[in-house]
Amino acid sequence: MLPPPSLWWSSLDQPVVARPALGRHLDVDVAIVGGGFTGLWTARELKRRDPQLRVCVLEKSVCGFGASGRNGGWAPALFPLGDQAVVRRYGIDAFTHQRELLRRSVRELGVAARADGVDAHFLQGGTLTFARSEIQADRLRERVTSAEEFGSKQSDIVWLDEPEARARGSVSAMLGAMYTPHCARVHPARLVRGLSDVDEALGVEIFENTAVTRIVPRRQRRQAEVVTIGGSVHAEYVVRATEGFTPTLPGQRRAVAPLYSLMIATEPLPEHFWSEVGFAHGETFADDRHLIIYGQRTKDNRVAFGGRGAPYHFGSTVEERFDRDSNVFELLETTLRELFPSLHVDITHRWGGPLAMPRDLTPSVVVDYDTGLASAGGYTGDGVVLSRVAGIALADLITRPDVETDYTRLPFIQRQSRRWEIEPLRWLGISSALALAAKADSTESRRGVESKANRWFNRLTGESE
Ligand SMILES: Cc1cc2nc3c(=O)[nH]c(=O)nc-3n(C[C@H](O)[C@H](O)[C@H](O)COP(=O)(O)OP(=O)(O)OC[C@H]3O[C@@H](n4cnc5c(N)ncnc54)[C@H](O)[C@@H]3O)c2cc1C
Repeated sequence: MLPPPSLWWSSLDQPVVARPALGRHLDVDVAIVGGGFTGLWTARELKRRDPQLRVCVLEKSVCGFGASGRNGGWAPALFPLGDQAVVRRYGIDAFTHQRELLRRSVRELGVAARADGVDAHFLQGGTLTFARSEIQADRLRERVTSAEEFGSKQSDIVWLDEPEARARGSVSAMLGAMYTPHCARVHPARLVRGLSDVDEALGVEIFENTAVTRIVPRRQRRQAEVVTIGGSVHAEYVVRATEGFTPTLPGQRRAVAPLYSLMIATEPLPEHFWSEVGFAHGETFADDRHLIIYGQRTKDNRVAFGGRGAPYHFGSTVEERFDRDSNVFELLETTLRELFPSLHVDITHRWGGPLAMPRDLTPSVVVDYDTGLASAGGYTGDGVVLSRVAGIALADLITRPDVETDYTRLPFIQRQSRRWEIEPLRWLGISSALALAAKADSTESRRGVESKANRWFNRLTGESE
């Protein structure tokens, strides 16, 4: 089973050949379920701390099959829960520690990849969040003020008036932009595949086409166990790193809600297009609508562009056919052409995949020393940097359980979100939230820029115009 035909997978240097599946019994120190960023960074960090540790990764498809190989390639210092909520829940000191660690983690991701010889097209040009209506401009200015109140400097986050914003990048109807330098663009499939090679070189055993069917906790003197069709693995610790696919595992249906994000990519765009719109330093971009959109200029001068809008599927169902939704693809294309009216090339790729939203919007990293079961995830749409942070925290917790590190004292470590409601409450809640976001965008645009894209949002959510 290979991932959907995305821009990222079709632009790897070499075709992906699956590693052998597990076909025997194995004894290891740490078994990792899931070969995405979380699993692979965890394995790398474990081996760097203790090269003697026996570590294996069990991946049901090929490494990078999940969100890690399909995402928008933003490597941001973002956290899914807003600043105010983090301060309210954990206090200003914990918030400040987390914010600073995430900010430096953007740069460190690039440094780590380069040090390992992985060319992931990392370029830290920051993010422009454009205001395309007065309401968006007011909201973004408020966000900058609030960030300043929490201690951010002008060099961390700033409001740019229209001419200043244009000097970095521009979209239609923009009134200005919020700019932060704390984001890089990457080619996610190059990063995740490169990381899997790095792990292997460090001595991690990787088994692909190996679907885990059951994870059994440690009991009395028996080790924890991972069961697959081809064989089982006994381990001191089992790390579950399955993110949007988690609800497909036994007993995990309500752990996180799988939400779908979908993407499109253009042909390479000519130089005159880029000299008109900018983004010369790899700035990632969005506007401040409620139903999130995200874009990047790729190294080969395409636009890779994605957004939400796909429905939540009843029962937290995860199926490959949900990766493609012609309504959402059409909506994305309409929105992209509206942002860049001079974009006259074809869309060459369309794909999507599941991400994981926890009930309290807070990622988690947990090691249970009694059962030997560990897990990390719940990054919603911000996992590119967070998954590396989580991997480092997991490696610290497993190899140095008695030592507090910068990573293990992050407020989302060793805590878990409560489970989602049973159906149909879950479906009703998530679907209503998605519909409300679309409705808010539509209402705002009626007051400001009326757009064809918003009419599509209305159709998606069943609203009349
Ligand atoms: C379209 C899209 C765009 C996104 N854009 C961004 C972005 O621009 N920036 C950002 O920060 N975040 C983004 N995200 C989120 C980000 O990609 C994820 O948070 C991150 O990649 C999660 O990494 P992971 O390793 O935890 O999970 P995944 O990469 O999903 O890996 C989980 C792995 O587990 C495997 N697996 C599942 N079940 C089993 C099983 N039973 N046995 C064995 N293996 C199993 C899967 O095959 C998969 O490879 C996006 C997500 C999507 C879907």
